[in-house]
Amino acid sequence: MNFCSHCGFKDMEFIIPDGDSLPRYVCPNCKTIHYINPKIIVGSIPIWEDKILLCKRAIEPRYGKWTLPCGYMENGETVEQGAIRETEEEANARIEVIGIQSIYSIPHINQVYMVFHSKLLDLNFSAGEESLEVGLFREEDIPWKELAFSAVHFSLKHFFQDRKQGQIQSTRIGFFQMSDRKHNH
Ligand SMILES: [Zn+2]
Repeated sequence: MNFCSHCGFKDMEFIIPDGDSLPRYVCPNCKTIHYINPKIIVGSIPIWEDKILLCKRAIEPRYGKWTLPCGYMENGETVEQGAIRETEEEANARIEVIGIQSIYSIPHINQVYMVFHSKLLDLNFSAGEESLEVGLFREEDIPWKELAFSAVHFSLKHFFQDRKQGQIQSTRIGFFQMSDRKHNH
């Protein structure tokens, strides 16, 4: 952080404020403490019969890899609204959110994924601005080696495991660490 977003002062201090336990960027001019917290990524598994909707990314990172429709939550929206908005943006698709499918922490890059089960409401989907193509996949057709993110892999793997046991509503919690060579399940 190079300057204070509150007053524009340029010499920020990185110190532990009184009563706190971690160092923060503190503005010596206006005394604002700038907290930097994890970002929430919201997404969903859009289900149509025995298939789910995936998007091929047209943007970095992971250009050309497949992902569930997901993205950064915006201020002023709920997590469900974020999941619906991301699905509209990336796949021009309409969904109804059913429930939470997984919560996935990635502490070394300060991200938390929240992935919902959702019902795809019609088949009028198409590639949005951030997608090269979108499509419906059965379990055996999922491009497992071409998935964009560990959280997507985690969600899909558990989705199909749970579906086999008839537990579409179960919630999985997981994490991924920098030192992990494989996806942590
Ligand atoms: Zn300031």
